[in-house]
Amino acid sequence: MSRTVYVNGEYLPEEDATISIFDRGFLMADGVYEVTSVLGGKLIDFDGHAARLARSLAELDMAQPITYEDLLAVHRELVVRNQIDNGLVYLQVTRGNPGDRDFVFPDPTETPGTVVLFTQSKPDLIDSPVAAAGIEVISVPDLRWHRRDIKTVQLLYPSMGKMAAKAAGAGDAWFVEDGQVTEGTSNNAYIVRNGKIVTRELSNDILHGITRAAVLRYAAEAQMEVEERAFTIAEAQSADEAFVTSATTFVTAVISIDGAQIGDGKPGPVARRLREIYIDESLKAAL
Ligand code: PLP
Repeated sequence: MSRTVYVNGEYLPEEDATISIFDRGFLMADGVYEVTSVLGGKLIDFDGHAARLARSLAELDMAQPITYEDLLAVHRELVVRNQIDNGLVYLQVTRGNPGDRDFVFPDPTETPGTVVLFTQSKPDLIDSPVAAAGIEVISVPDLRWHRRDIKTVQLLYPSMGKMAAKAAGAGDAWFVEDGQVTEGTSNNAYIVRNGKIVTRELSNDILHGITRAAVLRYAAEAQMEVEERAFTIAEAQSADEAFVTSATTFVTAVISIDGAQIGDGKPGPVARRLREIYIDESLKAAL
């Protein structure tokens, strides 16, 4: 069934939606994005994603092309029109179509940003077989640019990381820089040692995950100890547990790193509990 998508103010069947070949998102990867999950037809952590979008745009000197209220309305409309029960809404904003290729940014008063949204249905988002089993990860060098706090559409290197993981028979890759784990290709990375949750502190080195913020808040509310600092692959391999967080995988256990089994090779109690708390609490707060 053809989806209804949103492009610059219009709802269109996906096959009728078009973007100019001069769009800077296409030519320069000059764009930012957000992915908001949908559970039971409701938006999870929408306010966090909207706030991070505003920050990404500001960091890149891009104008905010759509208000918070309109953004929420479009998300909701697409969920309804596409009958999404569980799934996600993808949102991308680019610096638009200046009508030519040029490294210099166009004047935003003459070239409005391009706004695109579409949905993807994922019926087993909660009861995911991958989450039930946990994932194996490999480590790869972090060769991305140094503004990883901005959620840009420059995802070629993370894609290469996923391909390296696939070639190795693993589910994902963790990036390593200066001997320490930064994050996963599309998620934040954590270990658990003696009951304490350890994850890298926020900086330009990692994306400020919206799921990360919520999970750390819920962990603190549940009296779980959290330490924000970097860790090495060796420390992770000898940890009691490891896990990742992202908008569409919530909390997912990591059961091996570069072939070394973590704990007993099954999702551990801390990861399982945090996944449960995150899903329960997020559903309560869903819009
Ligand atoms: N880190 C990276 C590099 C990501 O691409 C993502 C999500 O796409 C995350 C972390 C997790 O962020 P969030 O929890 O906001 O989905």
